[in-house]
Amino acid sequence: MGGIGSGRRYQQGKHTTSDCRSLDVRWMNQQGMLDKHYPQIITWSRGGEKIGSIQIIAQPTKIVLNYRHSRNDDQWQSHEYAVRLDWTSCQYGGQRPWFLCPARGCGRRVAILYLGNCGIFACRHCYNLAYDCQRESFDDRACRRAEKIRDKLAWEPGILNGNGIKPKGMHWKTYRRLTAEHDAFVNVSLEEMERQLAVLQDLL
Ligand SMILES: [Zn+2]
Repeated sequence: MGGIGSGRRYQQGKHTTSDCRSLDVRWMNQQGMLDKHYPQIITWSRGGEKIGSIQIIAQPTKIVLNYRHSRNDDQWQSHEYAVRLDWTSCQYGGQRPWFLCPARGCGRRVAILYLGNCGIFACRHCYNLAYDCQRESFDDRACRRAEKIRDKLAWEPGILNGNGIKPKGMHWKTYRRLTAEHDAFVNVSLEEMERQLAVLQDLL
């Protein structure tokens, strides 16, 4: 069983997803998680620190989530419930998975479920999430790697803040290498943001 609270460390899991505590069924499918019918762990991290994890068991028509959730680190509540899956045909062949939002009375077909304060995963319609929170989920792997390099270069955090200058004492060769790596990760990340924005707009 995984745990989700504030500021605690959890066991290292095999799958690590983005900052926002959300589940993206397309990502899970890409990771091959939907095909494995045994317990798997998904973890979230922020600034390199694990901030939560859950256990999932994928079945052909649903995913069973199992985790504990704490709002204030003191009252831990156990949750175990199923999220139903739906598959639709893609325009160019193959099928893509969807979650059916597990919130009572919802059942919307969505790609992403968010963890709200009450500790249950539900769609953004149910939580009426602000754009800022959605944007957090764009913090993909490339973005995190770019941020790590920014940190090494003592640049202002945030890939949209542009590039900074060479830190004192760093060799030019190292600086050029890090800058080139940074720019490559930023390009990947921006493409991913655009792709996800397009997906979100599809869902509106
Ligand atoms: Zn919903």
